[in-house]
Amino acid sequence: MSEMVRVRFAPSPTGSLHLGNVRTALYNWLYARHTRGVFLLRVEDTDKERSSEAHCEELMDILAWLGLKWDEGPRVGGPYAPYKQSERTAVYGEHLARLKAQKLVYPCYCSEEELELERKRQLGRGHMPKYGGKCRKLAPEECRQLDDAGRTSVLRFIVPSGEIMVQDEVRGEVLFPSDQIGDFVLTRSDGSPTYNFTVVVDDALMKVTHVIRGEDHLSNTPKQILLYQALGYAPPKWAHLSIIKGPDGQKLSKRHGETSVESYKSKGYLPEAFLNYLALLGWAPKSGEILSLDQMAAEFDLTHVGKSGAIFDPVKLHWMGTQYVARMPLDELTRAVLPYLEDARLFNREQARARFDWLKQVVETVRTNLGCFSDIAKETFYFFSDELHFEPAQSEEMLNQKPLLEAYQKGLASLEDFSGDNFLKAVKEVGKQMGVKGKALYHPLRLALTGREDGPELVKIAPLLGKSKVLDRIALWTVEQAPK
Ligand code: GLU
Repeated sequence: MSEMVRVRFAPSPTGSLHLGNVRTALYNWLYARHTRGVFLLRVEDTDKERSSEAHCEELMDILAWLGLKWDEGPRVGGPYAPYKQSERTAVYGEHLARLKAQKLVYPCYCSEEELELERKRQLGRGHMPKYGGKCRKLAPEECRQLDDAGRTSVLRFIVPSGEIMVQDEVRGEVLFPSDQIGDFVLTRSDGSPTYNFTVVVDDALMKVTHVIRGEDHLSNTPKQILLYQALGYAPPKWAHLSIIKGPDGQKLSKRHGETSVESYKSKGYLPEAFLNYLALLGWAPKSGEILSLDQMAAEFDLTHVGKSGAIFDPVKLHWMGTQYVARMPLDELTRAVLPYLEDARLFNREQARARFDWLKQVVETVRTNLGCFSDIAKETFYFFSDELHFEPAQSEEMLNQKPLLEAYQKGLASLEDFSGDNFLKAVKEVGKQMGVKGKALYHPLRLALTGREDGPELVKIAPLLGKSKVLDRIALWTVEQAPK
């Protein structure tokens, strides 16, 4: 029997989780579920300056909101605890001692300025920058003198010559000549261990079988393989996921819109819809595009993860959102959008209690346009607010259509029962009377009632607005002094 799959998501709590992080978490989670393996969460917080407890809590809250439960990690514990690197200092110390004993590390006293100069020189000559190994040649006595003089140092790992082959589950074989890799840093000048070192120690001790992470880490993998060899551990399998790009083909960044998951949460995306969309960024399930987490887990496999860059398309995410909103029972959807109406100061809880059926009908008219709950405000504001905004061309159109609007005013004022059917009859009657049909008949009325070019059918909107609001809104354009 093959060994049980153990995968991990290993975020650094240095900021908000972005889309790429969460796709990595999701693929790990799906792979664990698919193989009935273990998904663990490890917090990589060795960079004390940039990490914070608040970010750590926030990222766990986001994963919990998404429903990506971890089997081992902070909050839940597990056999390889602790799962926060800041609490694992002793383990790194032991491993460092092993590397020291094997004489595989040396102190480096080069200053930032020296290193920067070396980098610039190499780049200037068209070489890949790497540490040239100056301090590798220092004798123990020289090191002692530098230490005594109060010079700070970092510890570097001696990269042996040869080639390192990364056998990647997504990208196939990737070869790295080790002369492209300079001796890399294992501990900083304050003694704290670096990412490449801690990640190997932890993945090895936590028995991680598959490292699934972003392609931006591919260049770290040969260094990590060298450390596995030096420490006598068997390396895991590797799978590097292509970088998510914006619609212009460039690496996804703020320029392309919101990239933090928190922002999609606060917009009111359903986590299932959000994850469904993210799952498709690099994986093409055979059974169609809309899948629950369980369906995804049943189908997910690394062999079907693509190598080419995935494009993040906010329009498609929105579409995915509408697919999930469409399935929500109306009562539940109405309750879900209410906080967003409150935030926009359009409607409050008390009003909703008194007019819940009315509110439900309002929500029903626009539900197919809702990709996320916060869309409710822009889709329905005219039901709640009389402060409609008109573009100059729209005002002009309505002022030019004053006779038509006056005919509406008359026709609709005489209705006793302001039902959709009666409203429609009255509108048609006005059309006949004035000799207008189609868009010319409806458009000025739509503008007057909603201030919008599009939206649900007027026959649905008008009864929900009610007779007096409808007449008031038309009257704005028929009285002597029409607004500008
Ligand atoms: N802490 C690293 C990051 O957030 C983890 C990389 C890895 O998965 O090895 O990028």
